[in-house]
Amino acid sequence: AKQAGKNAVAYFDPSMQEEVVMRNQVQTQLRTAIDVGDVELHYQPKVNATSRQLVSCEALVRWRDSDGKFVSPQTFIPIAENSGLICALGEHVFEVAVKQALRWNAEGCLVPIAVNVSPIQLRSIDFVETLKRQLDKHNAKPEWFELEITENAIMSNVDHSSAVIDELARMGFRIAIDDFGTGHSSLGYLKSFQVHTLKIDLSFVRDVMVDRFSRSIVRSITSLGHGLGLTVVAEGVETEEQANHLQNLHCDELQGYFFGRPMPETEFNQWRKQSLA
Ligand code: C2E
Ligand code: CA
Ligand code: CA
Ligand code: CA
Repeated sequence: AKQAGKNAVAYFDPSMQEEVVMRNQVQTQLRTAIDVGDVELHYQPKVNATSRQLVSCEALVRWRDSDGKFVSPQTFIPIAENSGLICALGEHVFEVAVKQALRWNAEGCLVPIAVNVSPIQLRSIDFVETLKRQLDKHNAKPEWFELEITENAIMSNVDHSSAVIDELARMGFRIAIDDFGTGHSSLGYLKSFQVHTLKIDLSFVRDVMVDRFSRSIVRSITSLGHGLGLTVVAEGVETEEQANHLQNLHCDELQGYFFGRPMPETEFNQWRKQSLA
């Protein structure tokens, strides 16, 4: 009886009801935002660690709410994931990236665009189909894109993930393992499909100057990656000291606020011109 009483209290907890109402509102608003084009992409440069020249970019989703302020993906991605909206959002994100690649290609300044993939998308049966559909619709090439997939997404179902990733790699997509080093992984999965890039999680990059453990982890990931013939990227690089240190630790590419924040198209194009000047 006590147990039931507790549950009843929990069930009628008004703060929980508010939470449900809030989530439903966000879902509806996000659905509308996708339809009217308030969900856009910002692009963050990745540079060669030695030359410091632009080599590619990462697309990061941004939702402009009715006040014109950006809602963080940290807030709305989990809500989209819990409501099934993530697949529609993911296809929209990919289409926006495809159109961006087409514009850059037409201007003769195409760089590969890395697109983030949610674990839910990876699990969905028509994920590969949605990517193919957008490529065909716009006559774009898979080689223009890298798919960033977190280690945890892969580990949650290694057999299925391996099959999907293998198919994507064979189509011509580049594959990056995101947040590398944070998953509870055996590294064995790396041999079951083709990967091109390891992205060292920014938590290790943040502490690389001050903590010898982080430094060791960066060194290990770099040597593992290079042993497997992969490109190793450090993300979250905020200072020149970090950049130089990561270069000395043989990271191939660097990404972070020190080089450039995620920027809308126009600003990214300007950043690019300035970086060449
Ligand atoms: P992530 O894929 O690990 O992306 C890296 C995050 O670090 C981004 O946050 C980026 O803006 C931020 N960042 C970049 N440079 C620095 C730096 O120097 N210092 C610090 N402290 N942070 C830096 P953002 O844009 O808020 O995105 C957060 C997460 O949301 C992403 O983490 C990713 O998991 C998810 N996300 C973003 N866009 C998408 C998307 O289109 N689809 C999906 N499924 N997830 C996305
Ligand atoms: Ca990422
Ligand atoms: Ca990451
Ligand atoms: Ca992350």
